[in-house]
Amino acid sequence: MNKPFRTKKQFGQHLLVSKDVISRIVDVLEVNQDDIIIEIGVGTGNLTEEILKRNPKILYGIEIDETAYPIIEEKFSGKESFNLIKADFFDVELKKLIDNFDVKFTGNLPYNVASNIIIDTVFYLKNIRLCVFMVQKEVAEKLVAVPKSKNYTFLSVFTQTFYHVEYIMSVPARFFKPPPKVTSAVVKLTPKRPAPDVDITEYKKFVSELFQNRRKMLRSKLNSDLLIKTGIKPESRVEQLSVEDIIKLYGVLKDGNRQSGS
Ligand code: SAH
Repeated sequence: MNKPFRTKKQFGQHLLVSKDVISRIVDVLEVNQDDIIIEIGVGTGNLTEEILKRNPKILYGIEIDETAYPIIEEKFSGKESFNLIKADFFDVELKKLIDNFDVKFTGNLPYNVASNIIIDTVFYLKNIRLCVFMVQKEVAEKLVAVPKSKNYTFLSVFTQTFYHVEYIMSVPARFFKPPPKVTSAVVKLTPKRPAPDVDITEYKKFVSELFQNRRKMLRSKLNSDLLIKTGIKPESRVEQLSVEDIIKLYGVLKDGNRQSGS
């Protein structure tokens, strides 16, 4: 027999129970009839239901917890536009799923992996129209952080390289069941066009290394001539650099490597 559904810590399950917040998220997602939407973490389908009311072309819902499947299947059995993907988000071959379409991502994300999910979406950027996610407030603050602030981290720079990020609203814990220990927030991510010309894997590694020992002067990590060439003071610290500076620095470094390698 199937195990009945009970919310689990292990999967970061905090069901969104406020109709107003759900409706606001779906407003920000601007659902059209030609939209292909991917919802990450369907749970018992609260958000799913509101999205379907607005008649997108297709809604794929990804859910890891098998005890939620019977609930989801029963709730949406008559909905042909809805497809449940019974899998861990990180195992889904998104490339196959969306290669020839533009999609919108949404979800009240499991907080323990929210940052990794957002980072992963960047690899599909050319097929993304926008993303609207509920995340832990601390993560949302990093996503929108500006240079010289304590929240300005790898996640800020990596995400802002590829997306315009908007902080839509804070959401108190009481709007969830069970309530999480933290405040949450809704963010909207719109891909920058044209997408920056970087190798995403390589760039990710570059930014993450740059943010290790973030208080150190850049000259201890990179060649001073190279920094000067990019218009960056060798004494500055990574947290003082704008996203544009960092993209530029990556480009100059890459060119340098290409030249010395040829
Ligand atoms: N959307 C629902 C549930 C949000 S809770 C609501 O708003 O009420 C987060 C959901 O993500 C849970 O259902 C959890 O089981 C699911 N989840 C957690 N990790 C996941 C993963 N790696 N892949 C897919 N779903 C995951």
